Amino acid sequence: MTDDIDIYYDDDADSTVLDDKTVAVLGYGSQGHAHAQNLDDSGVDVVVGLRESSSSREAARSDGLDVATPRNAAEQADIVSVLVPDTVQPDVYEKIRDVMTEGDTLQFAHGFNIHYGQIEPDDGVNVTMVAPKSPGHLVRRNYENNEGTPGLLAVYRDATGHANEIGLAYAKAIGCTRAGVIETSFREETESDLFGEQAVLCGGVTSLVKTAYETLVDNGYSREMAYFECLNELKLIVDLMYEGGNSEMWDSVSDTAEYGGLTRGDRVIDDHARERMDEILEEIQDGTFAREWITENQAGRPSYRQIRAAEKNHDIEDVGEDLRALFAWGEE
Ligand code: NDP
Ligand code: MG
Repeated sequence: MTDDIDIYYDDDADSTVLDDKTVAVLGYGSQGHAHAQNLDDSGVDVVVGLRESSSSREAARSDGLDVATPRNAAEQADIVSVLVPDTVQPDVYEKIRDVMTEGDTLQFAHGFNIHYGQIEPDDGVNVTMVAPKSPGHLVRRNYENNEGTPGLLAVYRDATGHANEIGLAYAKAIGCTRAGVIETSFREETESDLFGEQAVLCGGVTSLVKTAYETLVDNGYSREMAYFECLNELKLIVDLMYEGGNSEMWDSVSDTAEYGGLTRGDRVIDDHARERMDEILEEIQDGTFAREWITENQAGRPSYRQIRAAEKNHDIEDVGEDLRALFAWGEE
């Protein structure tokens, strides 16, 4: 089933590729702090790039790392890992563009700005992606526990003939090849990542929860019951799916839940929902979503702010806050 994808492990990576190289890690947030510390612990020469006013400077220094401005860090480095938020990457890139010299590598953890042409590196520069499939604090914690974090590797431009080796060595140094690294492309990573977060992970699932909650409440059921049934219990179900796929979940729930779910699920997510998913995927593929999001940022995020506020004002937030204060859960 997986025979047409390449998966790389520790033995496939040659760490010596990084021996004479310096890595600049721009940003010290979720991914930045993890990559910088893992690289450092793996014996790689690291400098963290942060603006003078950055509140993260102190943290990076007290973790024992050298700190410079993004431009100075990039100037010293052979590999520049761009780990500031995607929306500010084009601006940060403009500040380092002319210190990226031939044979350097520009390294990303997500493909958006390259794939949608917001950053266009000069021809002599390698462009790679090593994207851990996990938030940064787990990338760090796994590394410290001698465990790995699965990741993706992609090469957008191989200017030196060594981009793949460099990407693999970087993936090894942050602990990804301990778990396994899948080879992909900037296009596949960017488009599937956006689709997943829109259709399922962030968009689809919250809309499903809110609509089901409203259906119960509108029909006279208590808000508390609706919250437990439609939101809280989702975690137990997702945990089972995470462990053993949908089948482990079906095996664990009651026969009544299984029969009801199997006969009703496709009536909720029906052909209409499938058409909407196709539409959403097309907007990702043809760049409509990217243009909308870039324009929204350039305009100072007016509609983003409005939609965000409306979401926070949904009734399910109030009832959730009250219930979470009354019951103790999630404190393992
Ligand atoms: P964060 O939002 O955590 O990055 C914050 C860091 O960026 C801070 O150190 C901040 O420093 C710095 N920063 C913010 N704005 C600027 C600026 N204008 N100039 C210079 N530095 C700035 O980013 P993430 O780690 O979430 O994301 C980094 C990349 O990793 C993205 O491409 C993202 O898509 C990708 N990724 C993220 C994952 C995640 O789980 N978070 C998972 C996989 C990939 P300051 O103190 O100066 O504000
Ligand atoms: Mg993602």
